[in-house]
Amino acid sequence: MEKLEYGLIGEKLGHSFSPAIHRRLGDYDYRLVELSSQELGPFLEEGEFRGLNVTIPYKKAVIPYCRELTPQARHIGSVNTIVRRPDGTLLGHNTDYDGFSYLLRRVGAQVAGRKALVLGSGGASLTVQAVLRDLGAGEVVVISRTGENNYENLSRHRDAAVLVNATPVGMYPKEGMSPVDLEGFPVLEGVFDLIYNPARTSLLLQAQDRGLLWSNGLGMLVAQAKAAAERFMGVSIPDERVEEITREMEREKQNLVLTGMPGCGKTTVGQRLAQRLGRTFVDTDALVEEQAGCSIPELFDREGEEAFRRLEHQVLCQASREQGRVIATGGGIVTRQENWGPLRQNAQVIFLRRPLEDLPIQGRPVSQRTGLEQLYQERLPLYERTADWTADNTTVEEAVDAIIRRWNQ
Ligand code: NAP
Repeated sequence: MEKLEYGLIGEKLGHSFSPAIHRRLGDYDYRLVELSSQELGPFLEEGEFRGLNVTIPYKKAVIPYCRELTPQARHIGSVNTIVRRPDGTLLGHNTDYDGFSYLLRRVGAQVAGRKALVLGSGGASLTVQAVLRDLGAGEVVVISRTGENNYENLSRHRDAAVLVNATPVGMYPKEGMSPVDLEGFPVLEGVFDLIYNPARTSLLLQAQDRGLLWSNGLGMLVAQAKAAAERFMGVSIPDERVEEITREMEREKQNLVLTGMPGCGKTTVGQRLAQRLGRTFVDTDALVEEQAGCSIPELFDREGEEAFRRLEHQVLCQASREQGRVIATGGGIVTRQENWGPLRQNAQVIFLRRPLEDLPIQGRPVSQRTGLEQLYQERLPLYERTADWTADNTTVEEAVDAIIRRWNQ
């Protein structure tokens, strides 16, 4: 292998955002290095790297190879950044601490005096607990599958004000799962999920729907990378760079999903939007037709609406996992609650409106069967419930301009 300057070590790194973040932080070579547990020791002892980030499952395992740990890393018992010193020995840091502190600061979370629940008892949990205690949390309770406080007796903690998910539950490729139901926490103020893929986990969607303060883990990831880059290069990087990079990455990854009545122009507006933004365009109706091998009216005739909805759900789940797309959806996609999570998880959802009298019904079986007025009354609350914002399709160019303007804000 070519000599490595800086990089990330871990067991599985396929979907890591770290190289893209480090590219933005400094002009240095940064690569992903997947290591088995047998390879870890020899790599740390014999490798000629200058600095490393460390991820699952090696944040504890690297400690014996570090000649010294910073007081914070020692106190937490977890190392996610290693720097080679001039004498060749390794110094272990915990920059996840900086990352989680930033995540809370970024959204203005209040922790002092509050009861906090931390889900999971792994490496990230240790860091989260340390930050919460240092910020003066009233009580920090760890919920562990095998601990005294576990998922069976969560009702003991109905008085929690802060909840942090430090488990992988809900993470790609198992989106849609939530470690807890927020129904059981009536005085919650903030919910923070260290996961950043998907951008809005099922837990965070619950938090958003309840009007709570919430954040995913992307800001944390960028802030810990910035703290690591400062130690790699021995320079100081302004905090504003963290915000800039977080926003850039959010935008780059975020899908724009168009919902709205059949015939409101989702495909035409979506195609033009994708063209203007230089993005790939996806149409869930076209994907359904491709899978079914026939047109949607034929599928309705042949197998009924249920078969169409099943296929629609499948193609939506696939499409919404991709990132940086423009996705046009079928008019009835919002009628199935199972679609709400996939619609929203990696996207800004835009409800595209067009006057009812301008909506065509030809080739649209549900519009013909139910009638547009009734369909609109049934679906309007669902479009509103699932959308992040709305746009009017007066003309295609005006709609696209309005969407891009709003998205740039
Ligand atoms: P870890 O050491 O593997 O620990 C995760 C903990 O989650 C486990 O100790 C376990 O605790 C719990 N857990 C695992 N599988 C579970 C399941 N199926 N159901 C319920 N609980 C389960 O991982 P980690 O390093 O602490 O990371 C945890 C999460 O934080 C990951 O998703 C990781 O990607 C994320 N993270 C993000 C950042 C960031 O910068 N945004 C930084 C670090 C970590 P119990 O056995 O006690 O239940």
